[in-house]
Amino acid sequence: MPRTYLIAANWKMNPAPNQFESDHQSYHSRSDIDVIVFPTFLDITLCNESGCITGGQFGHPEHHGAHTGDISMAMLAGAGCRYVLCGHSERRAHHGESSEDVAAQAIAALEAGLHPVVCIGETLEERESGTEQDVVAAQLSPLPLESDITLAYEPVWAIGTGQTATPEQAQEMHAFIRSHLPEDRREQTRILYGGSMKPDNAQELLAQPDIDGGLVGGASLDPQSFHAIVECAVQCTA
Ligand code: PEP
Repeated sequence: MPRTYLIAANWKMNPAPNQFESDHQSYHSRSDIDVIVFPTFLDITLCNESGCITGGQFGHPEHHGAHTGDISMAMLAGAGCRYVLCGHSERRAHHGESSEDVAAQAIAALEAGLHPVVCIGETLEERESGTEQDVVAAQLSPLPLESDITLAYEPVWAIGTGQTATPEQAQEMHAFIRSHLPEDRREQTRILYGGSMKPDNAQELLAQPDIDGGLVGGASLDPQSFHAIVECAVQCTA
């Protein structure tokens, strides 16, 4: 069975686009493409009520307790989320999340009935020193790769910078990641690319054999740009 493309909008700490209430069709799944939105916690209900499939941008691995400012996986599921982002590089960098923390989040997500989308990727310094595969392998190592999860390869140097990995660079890393998956998950697990994906580079990236979709930040805040990226996935499916 071919893997279904997944195009995900990561709105980060931004409100829903101005036009969202009148133009949310761009964020809806298609018959053959999964589309999801990671809004702020405040916009989860708005997105669900607009017919979108949603995920939390973070979920704490514990169920409840003294964790000011956090939210649990069960609470996200209770709010109607089906997915959760784990280990986005901004969380790793600004909130000190280690790869073990990220793995604990992914396991807690699965226990709560959420589908984790786990982000991995190297910094510019790590790529320039030729250690990008070692870094990614170390990030993969504690993850529950035998489970039904999605991975998102997001080179940190490409996030929000306008500098995208070339399709060849991305494909090489995606194939490397796939080779690390347990044999019985290798053909099923989706691996998304994230890092300045835009309408003008999405087609080439999505056409790579091991790229199964995109995690889109900046361009997802513009419904037309996001729609154009989803259309690229539609073209690749045809
Ligand atoms: C992201 O935030 O996951 C991301 C890929 O952002 P951008 O598309 O803006 O690089």
